[in-house]
Amino acid sequence: MKILLHICCAPDATTAYKRLSVEHEVVGYFFNPNVQPLQEYEKRKKAVEILSKAWNFKVIYPPYEPEKWFKVVRGLENLPEGGMRCRACIAYRLRQTALEAKKLGFDSFTTSLTTSPHKDVNFINDIGEKIAKNVGLKYFTSIFRKKDGFLESVRYSKELNLYRQNYCGCIFSLRKEEKHDSVLR
Ligand code: SF4
Repeated sequence: MKILLHICCAPDATTAYKRLSVEHEVVGYFFNPNVQPLQEYEKRKKAVEILSKAWNFKVIYPPYEPEKWFKVVRGLENLPEGGMRCRACIAYRLRQTALEAKKLGFDSFTTSLTTSPHKDVNFINDIGEKIAKNVGLKYFTSIFRKKDGFLESVRYSKELNLYRQNYCGCIFSLRKEEKHDSVLR
């Protein structure tokens, strides 16, 4: 099968790519307009470039358009992490991945988000299935963190010296992390 893999970040993509590429033709899609500020987006993108070069696979980098993402989460800015803002954010990234996969003639799409221990994998897979039906493609259901998938990603990332972020991505998750740090200081 030809799969377009939504890559949320390089560490999560390690396990996802390794497992999928055993049986499938996989191309990465780094679509993350949720990541702010720009310097952080560039750091995460650079890490994906390092990974794709080291493991010799193709990644597509669409333009960085955070203003479109802000429209998607308008009115949800102050909601806690894991709530409706995150659902809208994840659905948006998956829908755009599916549309790109359809346009480029892929059979299927999926996401590296399920490598993370912090994400609601049931929501991700449910919304992936719904989008797939809507777009007329297959969604590759995954829980990459299973069977030590997350630990594997930590190991690969250390081997390749990949940048690992300490907040989810958007400015709201960054502020939460900064508040947490100032409480600890
Ligand atoms: S916390 Fe993460 S998943 Fe939630 S809206 Fe921000 S970037 Fe998206």
